[in-house]
Amino acid sequence: SVEASIPEPQREAWRKHQVDGFQDKDGFEREVVRHVETTLARSMFNCDESAAYAATSLAFRDRLILEWNRTQQRQTFADSKRLYYLSLEFLMGRALDNAMLNIGRKDMAKAGLAELGFRIEDVIQQEHDAALGNGGLGRLAACFLDSLASLNYPAWGYGLRYRYGIFKQEIIDGYQVEVPDYWLDFNPWEFPRHDVTVDIQFYGGVRKSVNSNGKTISHWEGGEVVKAVAYDVPIPGYMTPSTNNLRLWSSKAASGEFDFQKFNSGDYESSVADQQRAETISAVLYPNDNLERGKELRLKQQYFWVAASLYDIVRRFKKSKRPWREFPDQVAIQLNDTHPTLAIVELQRILIDLEGLEWDEAWNIVTNTFGYTNHTVLPEALEKWSVPLIQHLLPRHLQIIYDINLFFLQSVERKFPDNRELLGRVSIIEESQPKMVRMAFLAIVGSHKVNGVAELHSDLIKTTIFKDFVTIFGPDKFTNVTNGITPRRWLHQANPRLSELITKTTGTNDFLTDLDELNKIELHVDDPEFRKEWAAIKHANKVRLAELIKTSTGVTVDPSALFDVQVKRIHEYKRQQLNIFGVIHRYLTLKAMSPEERRKQQKRVSIFGGKAAPGYWMAKQIIHLVNSVGNVVNNDADIGDLLKVVFLEDYNVSKAEIIVPASDISEHISTAGTEASGTSNMKFVLNGGLIIGTCDGANIEITREIGENNIFLFGNLAEEVDDLRHAHTYGSHTIDPDLNKVFQEIEKGTFGSTQDFAALISAVRDHGDYYLVSDDFHAYIETQSLIDDAYRNQEEWLTKCITSVSRMGFFSSDRCITEYADTIWNIEALPVVDREY
Ligand code: PLP
Repeated sequence: SVEASIPEPQREAWRKHQVDGFQDKDGFEREVVRHVETTLARSMFNCDESAAYAATSLAFRDRLILEWNRTQQRQTFADSKRLYYLSLEFLMGRALDNAMLNIGRKDMAKAGLAELGFRIEDVIQQEHDAALGNGGLGRLAACFLDSLASLNYPAWGYGLRYRYGIFKQEIIDGYQVEVPDYWLDFNPWEFPRHDVTVDIQFYGGVRKSVNSNGKTISHWEGGEVVKAVAYDVPIPGYMTPSTNNLRLWSSKAASGEFDFQKFNSGDYESSVADQQRAETISAVLYPNDNLERGKELRLKQQYFWVAASLYDIVRRFKKSKRPWREFPDQVAIQLNDTHPTLAIVELQRILIDLEGLEWDEAWNIVTNTFGYTNHTVLPEALEKWSVPLIQHLLPRHLQIIYDINLFFLQSVERKFPDNRELLGRVSIIEESQPKMVRMAFLAIVGSHKVNGVAELHSDLIKTTIFKDFVTIFGPDKFTNVTNGITPRRWLHQANPRLSELITKTTGTNDFLTDLDELNKIELHVDDPEFRKEWAAIKHANKVRLAELIKTSTGVTVDPSALFDVQVKRIHEYKRQQLNIFGVIHRYLTLKAMSPEERRKQQKRVSIFGGKAAPGYWMAKQIIHLVNSVGNVVNNDADIGDLLKVVFLEDYNVSKAEIIVPASDISEHISTAGTEASGTSNMKFVLNGGLIIGTCDGANIEITREIGENNIFLFGNLAEEVDDLRHAHTYGSHTIDPDLNKVFQEIEKGTFGSTQDFAALISAVRDHGDYYLVSDDFHAYIETQSLIDDAYRNQEEWLTKCITSVSRMGFFSSDRCITEYADTIWNIEALPVVDREY
């Protein structure tokens, strides 16, 4: 059926010359050499590791692109409903290793590269991370793309092609320094589509006219135009030919290279400046995690990306010549957080202003198309945009937002008459000075489903920030889809030896496509040989991390010590300060012991990593404190190997792939009710590490799945937090005595400049301890001590680890995507039946 689109006379020639990528080791080597010599114009006598990486990637890319073309054709011919995942962040990490594993040709490449004189590990290392995201939200989008392709769903991702991803973090004298991450020097994984462009309008004004039917039509006119250019990134599924598309938009000046009028009148510099101004839109990823700052350029980014994506989606739909009312049968759009909420307004605008639909008909299409995923209840992260700013940048959209709000409030009033307070509370427009548009409310009103990302979180949004909307729309509009992670990257790729051991032990690698199959390893939990191999793999992973620690920080750590890891964005709600205060407490306790007593203590390495938003001063002080404590502790002869404290700079996906498999304990210790889900918690347990955590986010479901004996939970519960905060503010607030000793030690200057750390202390002591560090401190210390005891019994510890891994099936992003597909998107997989893979 695909071939039928080629006219009969030419069909034979096309068929005869069909390309089909390499099939064996020799074919792979031939492709590598060809790319070295021709594409890269390097002689094979002058091929270093970076050229070998480039050529290997191009060989795999050629294969991917063929499958990708076929997948797109298959999906177009099947004419099935597609999902479009709109995310301002895709934290992809490296692509080569993933492509080799998903295609199932890593062994072939390894042997081929060896014959050409390269170690595959060194070649893989050459790749620059694609770091187009901040943290969990962006990495979730990347895991979803892997699952969507692996499960053969017809789906596209849409995002921005930032020239600069998340900044590179350097630690200089203990402080974070940000360095721009220019990652596009050589990127074999993207295809520029200079033929796929969209003109995007900003500013200007709205003119009304009346057509021949007496209907008022709005025309958005004037202002400036910027061009969106598509860059496509192929997303290979695991062991399936399905290869989906991630389309990233890049901004360019609409008038071509120069404004020729200015150029001809001699104003060369200003014509280039216009060009640069247009390119600024997609230049840089905003480096804030869980924080919105209301910057105009950010709003421009959002509209630019949303408008280009919708134009593309609508263009594809219109090719099918179906009536508009069938749009939601063909198209599902998921909003990853509120960042793409303007898509709701843009689709309504397209339908009523450009396509001439009536308001109600259009709105029905819009609300049946969109789904909205909420990622946070933190007030500082909830997006709001000022009405004057939207008025200025998107005048027609502001009118539509006001109309959406008007019709919504009228419907609320009909249902709940005389309830002015309710109307004020749920209005999309906040009556502040200036007035603000509440994007989450707009997203709820414009979607047919709203989901949270873990059970507790989904319950919390229904009882707190979106309570009124549950009353208005009923509870069925709100649902939960607990986050998941792809076992391909986070087990098979990051921990190849463990993946191999599980395959060998269970006799199949089915767990990589059906993670529930992991439960088969529980049968082997008492098998001595299996246990020995498991322990040896963990040790080898710790040796590998110890090497990274040595090269990155210069600190030597003992791989037999307990590795205690907290890597994630630095944020007060994630409470790295609780961790480092606990480390100081441990240090003081060790110092107070006699040498004999000390010798009996459990050795630990406390490993920190993560970026602070450049403008987040408190988070930066936390990084500085960790490094300052490390400086003292790591050089204290009394302590030796008993305690080491390191901060690994520039935490990113490829570092996570080394760190995660090497942890014994990882910390997920957010103030209860603040972490929506967390996803690294799942990754650590899947790799045979245990967790110390609060009853927050997905920790709760992890506990349910693996059993409460296999996790170290502590701390106040979400329902206690409000009362405690209230008591801090209005009652007396006594600081935990052990924590007070920690504060006194910091204030004595033991860790250097006391001034720098004063704010971290006063947040707890003088400013209400909003994150309950003192309230949870005692339980935290006690639980850490339980962990020391538990770790001494290595046999029991190992049993806990193996048992936990065997019960982690639920946390596959395949489960998660299947839930979205069945309950929100209503899309069906399109398996490939006619070809072996
Ligand atoms: N940053 C990176 C580089 C990650 O790989 C991940 C998850 O694995 C995260 C952030 C999110 O971590 P968490 O769920 O602990 O916030």
